[in-house]
Amino acid sequence: EQAVNRTRNQLHINVSGSDIPEPIVSFDQLSIPTDLIVNLKRAGYNEPTTIQKQCITVMLEGRQVLACAPTGSGKTAAFVVPLIHHLKGPQRKGFRAVIVCPTRELARQTQRECLLLSLGRGFRIHVIHKKALTQYAPKSSQKFDLLVTTPNSLCYLLKQEPPVISLANVEWLIIDEADKLFETGLNSFRDQMEEILLACSNKDRKIGMFSATLTTFVDEWCKENMADFVRITVGQKNA
Ligand code: ADP
Ligand code: ADP
Ligand code: MG
Repeated sequence: EQAVNRTRNQLHINVSGSDIPEPIVSFDQLSIPTDLIVNLKRAGYNEPTTIQKQCITVMLEGRQVLACAPTGSGKTAAFVVPLIHHLKGPQRKGFRAVIVCPTRELARQTQRECLLLSLGRGFRIHVIHKKALTQYAPKSSQKFDLLVTTPNSLCYLLKQEPPVISLANVEWLIIDEADKLFETGLNSFRDQMEEILLACSNKDRKIGMFSATLTTFVDEWCKENMADFVRITVGQKNA
């Protein structure tokens, strides 16, 4: 226990929550299939970044997480690796994971990283395109496993009567750059998140929240909406 605390202090990792697994030193320590390790190495990820060391093990245990680490510190892979592991392979059950990003450009980048790190698994990863919004076909979405989207596009599809998109099978909801999302139109994003949460009707659905900074807003939201979550902050003091 003391040794773990010392390791976290050395890495400037701050955690709160119960029964938090140890940070890893190397990707090889992860109990995940070797194809995922190979994909990481092929992407040039030889050593985990600090947030990856702690966040991946926590999410692999199926724990909900609020992860705060500076921009450029590898937060994307910190959630993509456990996500891919949990989803295993394509199932044609429709979306089983949703990643909400503040911009379309970031959504496309995240889609690319998902494809890179899941190479060989055959996942179908959908980004809602602006042009396709009005002709979105619910049936074709069955073949997709992951959805990467801005909140606006997603809520637009959810608002159609009848709804044209189903999130009923979503197991993991990831909110990326949460500080930015909550900052731009504070209330509107809060409302959008309510709609998105409601649509993710699977009672076992889990949330991962990622942010560059730990803001009061984000923290309060997690306390309200995420039971027994683990808070991880890297390189900053707890709020
Ligand atoms: P953040 O979301 O924290 O801003 P990103 O996930 O966008 O950071 O990653 C920043 C950069 O670091 C990207 O170019 C990514 O490919 C790279 N990267 C991520 N993890 C590793 C790693 N373990 N080793 C080397 N590079 C990495
Ligand atoms: P972007 O940030 O690229 O504009 P958004 O997710 O904000 O992406 O929205 C993309 C497009 O989705 C909008 O330009 C519009 O065509 C459509 N859209 C989103 N929300 C609505 C809405 N409430 N009513 C009508 N169209 C919408
Ligand atoms: Mg990021």
